[in-house]
Amino acid sequence: MHFDPALLKGLRGARQVAILTGAGISAESGIPTFRDKLTGLWERYDPSELATPSAFERDSALVWGWYEWRRMMVLRAQPNAAHRAIATLSELVPQLTLVTQNVDDLHERAGSRGVLHLHGELARAYCETCRNVYRLPDGVPELPAAGKRIQPPQCASCGGRVRPGVVWFGEGLPELAWHAAVTVSCGCDAFIVVGTSAVVQPAASLVHKAAAAGALTIQVNPDITGIEDSVSFSLRGSAGDILPALVLQTWRSRTV
Ligand code: NAD
Ligand code: ZN
Repeated sequence: MHFDPALLKGLRGARQVAILTGAGISAESGIPTFRDKLTGLWERYDPSELATPSAFERDSALVWGWYEWRRMMVLRAQPNAAHRAIATLSELVPQLTLVTQNVDDLHERAGSRGVLHLHGELARAYCETCRNVYRLPDGVPELPAAGKRIQPPQCASCGGRVRPGVVWFGEGLPELAWHAAVTVSCGCDAFIVVGTSAVVQPAASLVHKAAAAGALTIQVNPDITGIEDSVSFSLRGSAGDILPALVLQTWRSRTV
């Protein structure tokens, strides 16, 4: 794989690197993105109509069942070469901040630390009433049938309804993570956006903030997303192919 020398030079000189990842980075681990057709019975459902507060109000067991299905799918999946390349990169650059829209934990399982989760995490849930946070158990081997309704649990301290610990369409982002992401986007030398359709706001605005602040901006995506004209370099291909090659060729003396 051949990269533009100006890209490699710019990256080599970067002291602060920010990376924003979306569902596409986990696609090669077998986790469907929202743009892929969902499998099995979930094909009949549109994610943008399941991932909303009103969907949970209308049919909490359907929404909880969908999140359990997604959570189990992630538990059965493994991080891929792109997740691992980012974890390696954090050892090679002076400062790397990883921001993700993903609700899976594949970055952490690849070895990344301090990941800023802008859209929450599948492994967490919290009480709608008292906001008590729960970490959901890891050891569930079976994938529930697609379309299966599962009643959400009750809060152990107040009896309220427990909901998935993710950010739904129409909800605000976790403030601390968001502010940290804005700060790092505005202060980095290089910003790499990987596997996101760049349409979900406000996360998608981060790359524009980085560009406006003068950072080198790089997109990694097999498809056209519409931000091609706003980034310094657009690398067309899968994250699992491009990121390991980019890390290897930029910091050639080290192995990935
Ligand atoms: P999206 O589903 O809107 O878009 C996915 C993007 O990934 C597309 O642009 C696609 O071209 C690209 N892509 C597909 N395969 C790729 C590959 N191998 N390498 C690189 N890119 C690839 O996802 P989004 O932009 O992240 O936003 C939608 C929302 O979906 C987010 O809020 C996120 O929380 C949620 N989501 C998360 C997961 C997850 O945690 N794994 C999965 C599905 C959806
Ligand atoms: Zn409670």
